[in-house]
Amino acid sequence: MARTDAIVLGGGIVGTSVALQLAKRGLSVALVDRAGLGEQTSFGNAGIIEGNTVFPPTFPADLRRLARIATKRASEANYHLTFLPKVLPWLLAFRAASQPQRLIETAHLIRPLFASAVPEHDALLKEAGTPQLLRKTGWLKVYRREATFAGLQREFDVAAEMGLPLQPLDTAGAQALEPALGGVFAHAVFWPEAASVSNPFRVTLAYALRLRVLGGVTVSGDARTLHRKGQGWRVETDEGGVDAPEVVLALGPWAGDFLKGLGLRLPFAVKRGYHRHFRGRGNASLARPVLDADYGYCITPMEMGIRMTTGVEFASRDAQPTPVQFERIMPAARQLFPLGERADDKTWMGARPCFPDSRPVIGRAPGQSGLWLAIGHAHWGLTLGPSTGRMLAEMMTGATPFVDPAPYRAERFL
Ligand SMILES: Cc1cc2nc3c(=O)[nH]c(=O)nc-3n(C[C@H](O)[C@H](O)[C@H](O)COP(=O)(O)OP(=O)(O)OC[C@H]3O[C@@H](n4cnc5c(N)ncnc54)[C@H](O)[C@@H]3O)c2cc1C
Repeated sequence: MARTDAIVLGGGIVGTSVALQLAKRGLSVALVDRAGLGEQTSFGNAGIIEGNTVFPPTFPADLRRLARIATKRASEANYHLTFLPKVLPWLLAFRAASQPQRLIETAHLIRPLFASAVPEHDALLKEAGTPQLLRKTGWLKVYRREATFAGLQREFDVAAEMGLPLQPLDTAGAQALEPALGGVFAHAVFWPEAASVSNPFRVTLAYALRLRVLGGVTVSGDARTLHRKGQGWRVETDEGGVDAPEVVLALGPWAGDFLKGLGLRLPFAVKRGYHRHFRGRGNASLARPVLDADYGYCITPMEMGIRMTTGVEFASRDAQPTPVQFERIMPAARQLFPLGERADDKTWMGARPCFPDSRPVIGRAPGQSGLWLAIGHAHWGLTLGPSTGRMLAEMMTGATPFVDPAPYRAERFL
């Protein structure tokens, strides 16, 4: 295994998908992770494949909402005060990217890649022999405040322009889809073209297994040992040094630790998030993920129970977990769905790797021959893993990428 065509550093959903798409195109690939594959950010997400995405998450424009976040009363966001000075430039860039015109531009730029999200997962899960992990049952978003629902009109208009189906529903219409929901909301929107998975961890493992079947190698090693070797690169692993002409950096929230050393000043930050599992009371169950938009949390039916995932927390990636958002969410969540006892004994924390324009960086690393980036997938790493992998693998093998890679170039920040 001393020499391969490509080394992929980072075995989350993004790196594993990239490695698999390279192997499908006949390359010999080594997928290197210092921990277990799929055990970090890709382990604990809400499991939604958001093929329907129109607008990215935005910086709050509403002063009332901003004040609630600032005074730590909001359930959708939390922050560590000491972290704010560090993340301030990023937040300002995020706010600029949240202006209405920029959102419309972003929606159009990202549509082609998102349009392929569900079909790419569908194809890979079938190849991997695990199609049952995918549920094509859509995504339901419920709205308690009239103003929040009224604020969706621009998103509806852009969705209509793009031919993206959605169904605005009243309480009874939403309850016809999800009978266990309490009537605490007046409006809902059903996005039929979103899908979800019943266990995100098993999706990464299924892709890793398929990679091995195609001759790829998964090996334990530390990306910090990466160095130039002749015209190519070498990384040290538990099974010795591995050399390759091409390396892909897919290190999720840890990518930021490497960029400066590679001479790349990219505006990278993390948005932390948490999950807990619950049982449904009585026979209560869900058929699809449900977002309680005004409280910023999601409940998704999973193999382990109902997974509740929180909104964002701005804090240093490695700071102690502070899952205070659950205290703010739980009374509202119990009104929306009959949550029973906890189905786990630990709160999980992950860190979404983010750029302020919400677009990942996928493509060549500027100034570093043979180095490629697949980083910053923010709220959509599960969604975009296979599509990112396909686009990057096509670029790396000299094929014409199936969607225009220009919106994802690192150079947009340089
Ligand atoms: C609460 C929450 C809910 C979410 N919900 C959704 C959702 O519903 N849908 C969706 O699409 N996305 C969702 N996301 C986002 C999604 O989970 C991430 O975008 C995605 O998991 C990122 O994948 P990744 O492969 O880039 O990173 P990771 O999964 O973190 O993988 C990076 C890998 O790099 C490895 N690594 C790090 N440092 C080194 C090193 N020095 N040497 C070797 N290996 C190293 C790590 O061990 C890890 O395995 C959610 C995120 C959170 C936190």
